[in-house]
Amino acid sequence: MNLIKIINGTIITGGESLIGNVVLKDRVIDYLGTEDISADGAQIIDAKGLYVAPGFIDMHTHGAGGADFMDGTVDAYLTAARMHAVHGTTLLYPTTLTSTNEALFASFETYRKAEEMNTDGARFGGMHLEGPYFSPMYAGAQDPRYLRNPRPEEYLEILDRCPALARWSFAPELEGAEEFAAELKKRGIVASIGHTNATFQECDAAYKSGADLMTHFYSCMSTVSRRNAFRYAGTIEYGYIQDGMHLEIIADGIHVPQDLLHLLLKIKGVERIALVTDSMRAAGMPEGPSILGPLSDGQEVIVEDGVAKLMDKSAFAGSVATADRLVRTMVQIAGCSITDAVRMITENPARIMGISDRKGSLKAGMDADLVIFDENINVRNTIIEGKIVYRYE
Ligand SMILES: [Zn+2]
Repeated sequence: MNLIKIINGTIITGGESLIGNVVLKDRVIDYLGTEDISADGAQIIDAKGLYVAPGFIDMHTHGAGGADFMDGTVDAYLTAARMHAVHGTTLLYPTTLTSTNEALFASFETYRKAEEMNTDGARFGGMHLEGPYFSPMYAGAQDPRYLRNPRPEEYLEILDRCPALARWSFAPELEGAEEFAAELKKRGIVASIGHTNATFQECDAAYKSGADLMTHFYSCMSTVSRRNAFRYAGTIEYGYIQDGMHLEIIADGIHVPQDLLHLLLKIKGVERIALVTDSMRAAGMPEGPSILGPLSDGQEVIVEDGVAKLMDKSAFAGSVATADRLVRTMVQIAGCSITDAVRMITENPARIMGISDRKGSLKAGMDADLVIFDENINVRNTIIEGKIVYRYE
């Protein structure tokens, strides 16, 4: 039996914090509270007053540590998973870029193999497909050659061939999108609105078909527009007004600047916001030249000022954030409490992804996924399913 006892922690649980101890037995939390219960033979971790939080859950990442999930190798998956774990992530959803279906099917296979071999990195919660059913007007870094409308003969095959699919981002204004969202909902896959020129009404139709999440809110989506003189509300306005809609934000402090973070917190509130890295391969690496997308035919980009940019610096080309930085941004730039910031990357994504019975909060019986960090969100320990995978020396 594997026994770990964390003592003197400032434990973040249920939106509050308490000074106490946590005992982990094998893969689950056995005890959490203020009592000093005995745990004979346990490995002791003295948190020395530091924060003990649920492990971070990243619902949207393309890679880290020099590796992109589209590289198509098991090694790339494992490298990215390890780097994210160093920064406190215990569960992530490998995200594909819009590409050919052959590349997509190959990545399902790679995912499956990597999942079996992943012993010391952030675990994989399932795949997130970002595209190819997107608006060409809001393609962002997605390759416009592959954008198209959802057709059942195509997406049913993809769904059938990828049992690990957990989430799919799409543009709701495309022909066939409502049926597509309903199919995802039926299969228990999270349908997420993104890279879209949708009107408010088109978002409403998608929401009613089961799409209750928005992909990197503010990036690559419509807002108020004028069409033939008449003014229409867009995706952003719908995201704000629909209480049941969850908003995912790239909280690196750059993609969504301070004023908009304040607006989001004021209008939407902590409960409906999830923090994601949406990181490309350069996350956790020194700044300088990098490649966006697969190594084989990706795009040259430059990482500087804490973000990836196109070579001509006219646009961002992906985030290089890790989860600890997201929490730090919400505390130090957006002015959140640490408990609220943590909630947005633990409890909220767990609820959105339908896994809150096992992950996203600390209490007895939950998976032993924990992160220990200081007041500047420097990660000291990452524990995944009861195993210490990272320890700061
Ligand atoms: Zn992305």
